[in-house]
Amino acid sequence: MDFLDRAVQRTRFAYFSMEIALRAEMHTYSGGLGVLAGDSARSAADLDLPMVFVTLVSRQGYARQEIDNSHAQVSHADPWSPQDFATALPQMVAVSIEGRAVWVRPWLYALECQLGHVIPVLLLDTDLAENAVEDRRITDALYGGDQAYRLKQEIVLGVGGQSVLRALGFRIEKYHLNEGHAALLTLPLLKGTRRPDGVHASDPIDSYDVSAVRKRCVFTTHTPVEAGFDKFDYDLVERVLGDYIERDILAHLAGADQLNMTHLALNLSGYVNGVARRHAETTRKLFPGYTIASITNGVHVHRWTHGAIARLFEQQFSNWAHEPEVLAFADQIGDNALWSAHGDAKHDLLARIAQATGRQLRPDLPLIGYARRMTAYKRPELIFSDMERLREIANAQPFQIVLAGLAHPNDGGGQEAIRALGAHIDALEGTIPAVFMPGYNLDVAAALVAGCDVWLNTPLPPLEASGTSGMKAALNGALNLSVLDGWWIEGCVESVTGWSIPSNGAEASDAGALYDKLRAVVLPLYHGDRGRWIWMMKQAISKIGSSFNSHRMMRRYVTEAYLR
Ligand SMILES: *Cc1c(COP(=O)(O)O)cnc(C)c1O
Repeated sequence: MDFLDRAVQRTRFAYFSMEIALRAEMHTYSGGLGVLAGDSARSAADLDLPMVFVTLVSRQGYARQEIDNSHAQVSHADPWSPQDFATALPQMVAVSIEGRAVWVRPWLYALECQLGHVIPVLLLDTDLAENAVEDRRITDALYGGDQAYRLKQEIVLGVGGQSVLRALGFRIEKYHLNEGHAALLTLPLLKGTRRPDGVHASDPIDSYDVSAVRKRCVFTTHTPVEAGFDKFDYDLVERVLGDYIERDILAHLAGADQLNMTHLALNLSGYVNGVARRHAETTRKLFPGYTIASITNGVHVHRWTHGAIARLFEQQFSNWAHEPEVLAFADQIGDNALWSAHGDAKHDLLARIAQATGRQLRPDLPLIGYARRMTAYKRPELIFSDMERLREIANAQPFQIVLAGLAHPNDGGGQEAIRALGAHIDALEGTIPAVFMPGYNLDVAAALVAGCDVWLNTPLPPLEASGTSGMKAALNGALNLSVLDGWWIEGCVESVTGWSIPSNGAEASDAGALYDKLRAVVLPLYHGDRGRWIWMMKQAISKIGSSFNSHRMMRRYVTEAYLR
């Protein structure tokens, strides 16, 4: 445990996230938020940053997806075994929940990067013999259960995580709240500033030093709509959190009617940012008067580049994984070498698809991929809006489609979308080879982003805060075809790095714009001008890979937020 001692001594920044995607076998993530946290941790390790990452152990995972004969998603618990990957630490702490002492134990996961640096990730666990049966389940189901369950999880993460760090001897200067779930970590900090009793303050908030807490907290918001924020009724908060902190203080900082985690984080963080330029603008409109910076997300280049493509990078720039900015020169890679490496990635994906679905897609036809969380604003069905039109396009210029994605077990709309996609796939039988890959996770995502030719995204603007899968695709030379929202507003150079889909938000016209682009621009290029296609692949890799990476993102967090 030498590495932990060193980490305790040197660590200055703590990153808190409800989910962190470390590896496919560890089910501590559900989707983009967790993948971003995982890529942040990997870059922190590569850059040897003095950081610790804190999350929940989520023993039962998020959901394992099965697709039944009627195309419906069947959601299973997705348990995993922390002891196979992490070490239980003896330092336990107690948090008060519903008046009971709930013990929290950290598991230590040593995240080691290619260069040999190691970063500690702490996975918080309440499944301990010391706890009441119901409390042992608090850290089981990621985003599972009811409001009370979620609040308990957020207490364990924020308050428990803070205590665990202290018990281990960490001295943290800055806390990074990755999304509002972690906002309760501000409360122990705030309590630490309480002026001695007896000092008379005319306003109760003046008993605390809010500005001292703000100096120590950095908040990244990921949600562009008010409805997406975690909110808890104060009656529930009082029942679960007890008298941990006065209700009027919470009402002052987190909302008069409900405890709104985004408001709490905003009011107690001295640096707040959105995850893309457009998202920061949207957030400023939601919260007039707050200063909202933007640090556009990035992906971890080594993790998301297919082995065959990585070998090309390696030949040209031996330091690419540490200095992804050198990928700016990836446009110098030879056409044949790149096309052949892409062919290897596509071959691997087609083999995976065949294994999962029994369907054999063709390597010589363009493959359009769409994989993301299945939820209404992402509009997974948009490409199937006009089946006649789609068939007509494919009859003249053939292509194939692969889809994947999980719906939250309680998201009826998302579940319905999956069923509808299955029906559309059936209806295309004989004209457009199309498949749904079950069990979207880190490994499936990696195969998809590398093996597709075109990466499709059709969200309803401005609801896609960032969207990182398109960055992963670009890194592998897959070309984005996407509505201009989130990061793509910054990444898209029309017909150079990919293509935009003009959107006015109405389904029929957005679908029409997608069909027009496919028919008139994307498919003719693939079928008719392979040289220009490969040129675009290189433009995507060099322009997007060199800047939309998590090394650049973490360097910016350090210089603009943590050291501020
Ligand atoms: C990258 C990734 C995401 C996020 O991608 P979006 O473009 O935001 O949908 C979600 N889930 C997995 C498994 C990923 O790898």
